[in-house]
This record gives sequence, C-alpha cells and structure tokens, in this order.
Amino acid sequence: MRIGIVGAGIGGLTTALALTRQGADCVVLEQRPEPAEDGTGIQISPNAAAALLGLGVRLDFAVPVASRELRRWADGTVLGRTDLSRYRVPYLTMRRGQLTEALREAPVHFGRRCVTVCDDGAGVVLGFTDGTEDRFDAVIGADGLHSAVRAAVGPADPRYSGLVASRAVLPSAGPHRVTVWLGPGRHCVTYPIAPGLLNLVVVTPADQPPDRPVRVTGDRLLPYFDGWHPAVRELIDAAGELEQRALYDLPPVSPWCRGRVMLIGDAAHPILPFIAQGAAQAIEDAVTLARCTDLSGFEALRRDRVRQVYEMSRAGLRVHHLPDGAEQRIRDAALATADPGAHDWLYRPRSYAAGS
Ligand SMILES: Cc1cc2nc3c(=O)[nH]c(=O)nc-3n(C[C@H](O)[C@H](O)[C@H](O)COP(=O)(O)OP(=O)(O)OC[C@H]3O[C@@H](n4cnc5c(N)ncnc54)[C@H](O)[C@@H]3O)c2cc1C
Repeated sequence: MRIGIVGAGIGGLTTALALTRQGADCVVLEQRPEPAEDGTGIQISPNAAAALLGLGVRLDFAVPVASRELRRWADGTVLGRTDLSRYRVPYLTMRRGQLTEALREAPVHFGRRCVTVCDDGAGVVLGFTDGTEDRFDAVIGADGLHSAVRAAVGPADPRYSGLVASRAVLPSAGPHRVTVWLGPGRHCVTYPIAPGLLNLVVVTPADQPPDRPVRVTGDRLLPYFDGWHPAVRELIDAAGELEQRALYDLPPVSPWCRGRVMLIGDAAHPILPFIAQGAAQAIEDAVTLARCTDLSGFEALRRDRVRQVYEMSRAGLRVHHLPDGAEQRIRDAALATADPGAHDWLYRPRSYAAGS
C-alpha cells in the first residue's frame, strides 16, 4: 500500500511512523515550507506516552510531572490535586517541536499544500497548490482543525467556543507539576517543559475569533485578570509576547472515513484543550489505525472513546470557568474530595493489539 498522509503534525507523523512499522509505504505531505520550530509546550498523558514508547519513540527530553494542582483564581487556595504518577508510564510535558522531531521517520515532503482530494475507487489523487498531482492507494487526512481533506469525507464545520488561548514560554524554575488556576470565564495553566523553562497558557473570552494565530502582548491580556492572584498577573506580565489562537471543537458525529480516505486527529475530532487530550487522541488514532485490518474498522474502535473525551473537555469548559457562587462552591468541594482513580479510564495505558 502506498499511503499519502496529509499534514506533518503530531497526528500525521505518528500515523506515518506506526504504519511504516506495519510495512506500509507512507509519504507525509505538509504545507509548511520547512519543519515547524514550535518551542511551546504540550502535555502527553500516559495513555499517549505509552503508545509512543510502544512504537520505539525516544522521549528522554521530556519532563515527567508528578501531579496536577487546581488553584482558586483570587487567592491561590489549592482546590484539588491529581496524582499523575500512579500509572506505569509517566505523564510527560515537553516542547512541541522536540516531539515532532522525535516522530519524524517516514519521508516528509514540505511545501505541499493539498487542495483537492479525488477518490476514483481504485485510488486517491491529491492535488496541490502548485498544480501537481500525486496518486495513492489510500489517503489519511491529518491536516488539523481546518482540514482540506475533510470535504472528501463529509462536510463538517468546527464550532468556535468564544475563547482564545494565548501561549508563551518563560524562564522559570518550578516544581514538576501542572498548575491550573480556575476563575470566572477564564483560566491559566503552567507546567515545566525543560530545566528552567515554564510553559504558560491563558484562556480568555473573545467575541471575534482571530482567523489565524496572532501575537499579543501580556499587557493586553492583563485586564482579563484584574483581581487575580499576583502570581498569575506576574507570569502574564513577564511573558512578553504570546501566540494567540481561537479554540474550536466539533461534536464527534460526522464520519471519519469514506472509501479510501480517512481522517484522524484534529481533522476528524477537534476538541477543546480543557483536558489536554487533542494530541493524545491523535496519537491513539494513529496506533489504532496501524493495527486495523480494514479502514472502516477504525471508526468503530475509536468512536466511543473519542466521544467520552469530547464530552469531558466540554464539561471542563463549564467547570473551569464557573463564576463565584453556589455552583462554584459545590465544584470546589467535589475537587477537594475527588477519587484519586477518577482519571484512570483516560490515562491508564491501553493495549493496541489488533481489534482491541
Ligand atoms: C492552547 C492549546 C493547548 C493544547 N494543549 C494540549 C496538550 O497539552 N496535550 C494534548 O494532547 N493536546 C493539546 N492540545 C491539542 C493539540 O494541540 C491538537 O489536538 C493536536 O496538535 C492535533 O494534532 P494534528 O496532527 O491532528 O493536527 P495539527 O497539529 O493541526 O497538524 C496539522 C498539520 O497539517 C498541516 N496542514 C494543514 N492543512 C494542510 C493542507 N491542506 N495540506 C498539507 N498540509 C496541511 C499543518 O501545517 C500542520 O502541520 C492543545 C491545543 C491548544 C490550542
């Protein structure tokens, strides 16, 4: 099988690696002119880390984090703590660019922006902006949120959440922990990604989504954090410039597969980053797909799990951003007494044997 994979993000590269291990001939076609140098961070939970380690990917540059702490916006009170070290594989944080570099094994053709996908029953022809075409036995659309391949499977429009996320990396030594500051209508996340480097993500409301990632300065974001704990305000102030992008998701009801074309990762099921699972689910897609004997079996194996993760991330949106009041107090009481195994269904490393 000659397989064309559109998109060299975490999903596309992991798919290429996993399929190559199964003996497929894969080519990755990426619109960017060269590899992305993305220094911002990503959390890779044990369910995904185990899948990558199972493929032989070396992750020794990553930081193992022991816990996640949820704090109250105004005074920093610790509302809850999740032990992330209870799994046989660590919960890891790292720079995105280092991860994509570690995943690159199959050939990647840069500067190839796919614009048309035509499945003629015997194969799939991809058309590119430069007017060239290439033919494959099957095509996997791993081209992210605004997927071009999606149109060949079934139209679906991701839905804007009314929120934007702004990210930066700061020099700062801190504990090996993810910290989430919860507040009314907005939140802030920090975690280490290398010795002396902290990743900062702030999520704020925005009526109009920017149509592409934009740079914003910390002082434009500070007004959203009036009255917040000084530790949060200092981080935003120290961040200098942050990269801001709009947050979208799509209920996982539309098809991911049609004929010889299929979608994985954000192209299939973009989710909000409230439980840091978008890339993790793309990685799970990749290893599941590589074990499927037929493409249509993939959807059946993944649909329920992705739906559960989608619903949890939607619930996260509400719960993270509750205004102060009765509901918030109920939430805080629940966080203080949460079952330590509450995330086991999500984080526990899974088996990717064929059909499982
Ligand atoms: C603020 C924020 C924080 C997040 N944090 C986490 C986290 O901690 N952990 C986690 O698991 N997930 C996280 N996510 C989600 C995660 O980033 C995404 O789910 C994941 O990157 C999706 O990977 P992908 O490979 O499917 O798509 P993408 O990463 O979007 O990759 C798509 C690739 O396809 C290319 N492409 C697009 N169109 C074309 C075309 N027409 N032709 C050729 N190439 C094309 C793009 O250039 C890109 O390289 C976060 C998301 C956000 C916004």
